[in-house]
Amino acid sequence: MRESFEIRDTDAGGRIGKLTVPRAGTTVETPALLPVINPNLDTISPRRLADEFGAEILITNSYIIHGDDTLHERALEEGLHDLLDFPGAIMTDSGSFQLSEYGEIDVTTEEILDFQREIGSDIATPVDIPTPPDVSHDRAASDLETTQERLEIAEDVDTGEMLVSAPVQGSTYPDLREQAGRHATGTDLDVFPVGAVVPLMNDYRYDDMIDVVAAAKRGLGADAPVHLFGAGHPMMFALAVAAGCDLFDSAAYALYARDDRYLTVRGTRHLADLDYLPCSCAVCTDHSPAELRALPDAERESELAAHNLHVTFAEIRRIKQAIRAGNLLELVEQRARSHPAMLDGYRTLLDHAAQLARSDPVSKGSFFYTSHESARRPEVVRHHRRLERLSVPDSLLLTVDRSAPDAGYDDVWRVQPPFGPFPRALSKTYPLTAETPERTDRAALEAAADGVARLVETSPETDVTLAHRDWPADVLERLPDGVALVDLADEA
Ligand SMILES: [Zn+2]
Repeated sequence: MRESFEIRDTDAGGRIGKLTVPRAGTTVETPALLPVINPNLDTISPRRLADEFGAEILITNSYIIHGDDTLHERALEEGLHDLLDFPGAIMTDSGSFQLSEYGEIDVTTEEILDFQREIGSDIATPVDIPTPPDVSHDRAASDLETTQERLEIAEDVDTGEMLVSAPVQGSTYPDLREQAGRHATGTDLDVFPVGAVVPLMNDYRYDDMIDVVAAAKRGLGADAPVHLFGAGHPMMFALAVAAGCDLFDSAAYALYARDDRYLTVRGTRHLADLDYLPCSCAVCTDHSPAELRALPDAERESELAAHNLHVTFAEIRRIKQAIRAGNLLELVEQRARSHPAMLDGYRTLLDHAAQLARSDPVSKGSFFYTSHESARRPEVVRHHRRLERLSVPDSLLLTVDRSAPDAGYDDVWRVQPPFGPFPRALSKTYPLTAETPERTDRAALEAAADGVARLVETSPETDVTLAHRDWPADVLERLPDGVALVDLADEA
């Protein structure tokens, strides 16, 4: 276990954890949102973030402070906590984002880490190379080598109690992301941002984002706190948490407010297009859209930023409650319905169901089958694997009929979509207690047939008969030869 990060609850790849930040003398509960503070423009003051929104941690850019004579001097004299007037933990970014936007910055890793320590940062960031998506593998590998050299330099800098992050790069190459994760977790650094995913999110490439995160997680292992760098839209938090991300930073709340954009968990709306405000925060209950539109620019921006933050923090709380209740993937399914690209992200997440199954609790409160994607959830994958370990008699009837008689078989097992076969003694155990719709869909039948196929493959000596009800021919084609079939619909 890592000293600074303790995992309390898990659901799919998501977890509730405690990040200990020794220099701030505090712990931060994750998943956590770090509002981004531009030291030159505070749309919502850091004090208000703490008092009104409950922010335990924020992030600001040390490179901007470093490059501004007045801020530079004040930060050194007063320290970051007094300069910003924020009582919680403060993370600082290094200028890598500026590097990716403008091509160059003029500080070294040692200088910017020393500077972050001197101004009182609690979590510092070295200068890594954020490689954009889709560059050549050679370039991504060579950039990654530079990032890894910088992380090794960062390990040698005397950073005292300050935590230091170790960004994971590698562009859109899963092999490089995994290797980067393995290298980063092998250093003595503390927090692991998955970097350079902003271009993917800006292009709605949530599928590629999930592949990148899943690869980084394979390298990092389960106990590393993971920050999804630059991810600030509440629509995708549940998806990213389910993939195993713990920290998010949001500049979106302020940037969107500046353009009159109103965040919701189902996407962004323009204030001009809203006739009603679908939110119960103080801003939305105190104003109509017309009243908001009539406010002077600065005031409107500040009210919209406050609403955007309320929505964002509420989603983080909703996600934590879902993890505690064991229904995070049902929340992800709801969010996935808000945009086709989010659905691609969720479907990609389920490509990694076996990876998620490692951290998914064996027993939870409920499994609601709420979309055909549910047929690919980690619980289904785990049940199929469990079939290999069950002892199977010489002749076996598998039936969808709950009250089938033994009728000359050594044993009778139930078959339930999407899980497939199981001994009747297991019928009261999770996830076989799942609530499924009466009108079964094809994905659930296919998953059940795959479960039967798995059982037959692992017990080739057993004579298996499947009693199904009206399963389509192409679903039955998924079964190995030699499975005897009975259609209960014919017998009725
Ligand atoms: Zn609101």
